[in-house]
Amino acid sequence: MAVLVFAESLTGSIKKIAQEAVAYGYQAAQAMGTECIALTIGQADGAGDLGLYGAAKVYNVDASNDFDAQVYASILGQAADKFGADLIVFAHSSSGKSLAGRLAARFDAALVTAATSIPTVADGGLHISKGVFSGKAFATYALKTDKKVVTIAGNTFRPTEVGAAVAVESVSVDAATGRITVKELNTVTGAVPLPEAELVVSAGRGMKGPENWGIIEELAGTLGAATACSRPVADVHWRPHHEHVGQTGVAIRPTLYIAIGISGAIQHLAGVNQSKVIVVINKDPEAPFFKAADYGVVGDLFDVVPKLNAALAKFKA
Ligand code: FAD
Repeated sequence: MAVLVFAESLTGSIKKIAQEAVAYGYQAAQAMGTECIALTIGQADGAGDLGLYGAAKVYNVDASNDFDAQVYASILGQAADKFGADLIVFAHSSSGKSLAGRLAARFDAALVTAATSIPTVADGGLHISKGVFSGKAFATYALKTDKKVVTIAGNTFRPTEVGAAVAVESVSVDAATGRITVKELNTVTGAVPLPEAELVVSAGRGMKGPENWGIIEELAGTLGAATACSRPVADVHWRPHHEHVGQTGVAIRPTLYIAIGISGAIQHLAGVNQSKVIVVINKDPEAPFFKAADYGVVGDLFDVVPKLNAALAKFKA
């Protein structure tokens, strides 16, 4: 019996989402009376530090960092068998989501995605909750299959230090061959990755065009925030698709979400309404987003945002 956590390191090092997954795995293991094992694949700088967040053991499989869901799922499936994992934990990232589905199918296992609660042991199974109906309600699922699979909502389980760094051990599994050749990998450098960001500055169609995004980037740069956007903005290529938040985009839970020139359609809110504090800047006082806002500024963004940037620049100086 064990909790197996996939600690992803697709760019060669362990990121916050992997630490969160281990923090979750540790608490799940505590509830289940077992231990948390972290598995990394390929280069994974900082893997030993996962012991700090509760991994009793950290294993590494020597394989490529180029993500191939088929190959990674095969490795994780073999590791889950080898370590006798009852629960397999993933971050709710795009790779985590694709692997969780594959593992659940492979083991005929119950799957909960974007979980928001640590499992409790009850009725011979595990009970895990998640937000449903765009975060307007919570549902609790009873998972009663032998193996269970879960992806965890981002920015929900803060990694806190509960242990000490451990030595990373190698583990070998049968080599799997995939059908994917990665030709080019584009990573966003210098910017804060959106799913991990504590502060997010987001803008929508009110910006009128991509040439006006300088004031948004300036605001995000001053605050050390990630940038995001509404879906229509990504659809018309004003902004890259990976910035699109909402029901069909990235779901985020930052401490602060600043929405500029975004109306607040339900599909947009679905991805951002778990933010701790929401600030809305919109010239239309009837914009639906104001109903979800903690603070609102009714005004023309081309007037308000430069003034905000100027005020923050003075504050920083
Ligand atoms: P608009 O609705 O056009 O709003 C622009 C806002 O800017 C308005 O409120 C306006 O008052 C304000 N504004 C204009 N000029 C200024 C100015 N000068 N100063 C200040 N404010 C100004 N959308 C998402 O974002 N994410 C999703 O994941 C998503 N998924 C969807 C899934 C489905 C199945 C469907 C049907 C739709 C989905 N949508 C999604 C689209 C969603 O319904 C809205 O159409 C979209 O969110 C609107 O984007 P917007 O707020 O940028 O644009």
